[in-house]
Amino acid sequence: MASIHIPTLMLALLSGFAMLGVQLWAAQRSRLHYLDLGVWTWGSWTLLFGFVGLASRLVLPIWFSALVGNGLIALGLVFYNEAIHRHVLGRSLPRWMWWAGPAVAWGLTAWMLTWPLALRTSAISLVFALLLLPAICLLLGPGWRGEASLRAVGVTLVAAAASLMLRSVHALTNPDEYQDLMQGSLGQGLTFLFSFICLIGAGFGFVLANFERIARRMEEVASMDGLTGCLNRMTADALLRHELERGRREGSPLAFVLLDLDHFKDVNDCHGHHAGDDALRAFAAEVRARLRASDVVGRWGGEEFGLVLPATDGSGARSLVEQIREAVATLQLCDGDGRAFTLTVSAGIAVAEPGGQLTADQLFMRADRALYRAKDGGRNNVQVHDSGLELGTESPVG
Ligand code: GH3
Ligand code: MG
Ligand code: MG
Repeated sequence: MASIHIPTLMLALLSGFAMLGVQLWAAQRSRLHYLDLGVWTWGSWTLLFGFVGLASRLVLPIWFSALVGNGLIALGLVFYNEAIHRHVLGRSLPRWMWWAGPAVAWGLTAWMLTWPLALRTSAISLVFALLLLPAICLLLGPGWRGEASLRAVGVTLVAAAASLMLRSVHALTNPDEYQDLMQGSLGQGLTFLFSFICLIGAGFGFVLANFERIARRMEEVASMDGLTGCLNRMTADALLRHELERGRREGSPLAFVLLDLDHFKDVNDCHGHHAGDDALRAFAAEVRARLRASDVVGRWGGEEFGLVLPATDGSGARSLVEQIREAVATLQLCDGDGRAFTLTVSAGIAVAEPGGQLTADQLFMRADRALYRAKDGGRNNVQVHDSGLELGTESPVG
């Protein structure tokens, strides 16, 4: 019957984990050391030394090889659980799991040392499979909504656990193939190989998931305004152009609104910049709370914000912006000295009708002019651009 040469297989696995450990260690030396990759690296080194422990039975006593090998492999799997736990939930594993995993593997090995190897293999394989379960539950549960590569890690760990369980059953039903760990046998060789190759694969998937997360964060940072959490001007402006085109294609109007806080310089002068920053944040949160999922709010500069409202006509935009104006006026704000103050906002609205040919720059200019009228009208005021008032004053820019 075909068989697998186990010492060769062991060597392949050792090299695989050593390579993974070296690559992860090198990645850790970069500025990305805050990643959960560090914990995974420890797991890979621990597994590597676990395999060295198992292989050491060629020259050292079996009891030593089994205790060291199984204990370290269990500890390595706990490290993997810790890395996944931190990545998905942002906190560490409960402390008891740290000692319970290795203690069960170690205690069981010690207790079963005199038992036939087939029974010991079956029990320990089952323990290893169970040790993967917490990570699998996290990855198939809350982790499934995370990075796509994280789902691949989940599936790979399911394959590893299934293979370990198969090994557990196979050892019970085919004890002849488990007389010696180094015995060449297809069943025991394949299950061993597949389980641990899956763990190496999961390591690569975990690296990708970490980098996917970093890429997403960088994208967010590049498109967001750090103070208010709104989109920054560049991104909101690009979305305005995109929505304008879409409205034209779909035959729906698009409203653009410029909001400017009234006498905001006085807020800074009287209450300090900290209170001013808090007021900007509170204002942005108030605006966001009133928008639909398809609406966009961007910070155009200082205390000026722009709203892109797809499929919205002039009256729809006016009623939404009036609600925002009223809500902002009732915001109760407080500075560092406990002094209360309030805010008001003025707004200019411009609408691109579906049949029209307005560019984004023209739409912006119209909203800006309406905003000036709102300021002239006494502030705490909303104005919709009226082309009848300004015929012939627009030059086609943009
Ligand atoms: P108006 O009603 O005419 O709009 O008056 P205003 O005082 O709001 O307008 P002005 O443009 O003169 O002043 C805007 C102020 O907004 C000046 C600046 O100190 C403040 N500002 C801009 N960005 C920030 C910011 O990020 N944080 C704080 N605290 N203040 C800011
Ligand atoms: Mg202002
Ligand atoms: Mg301003």
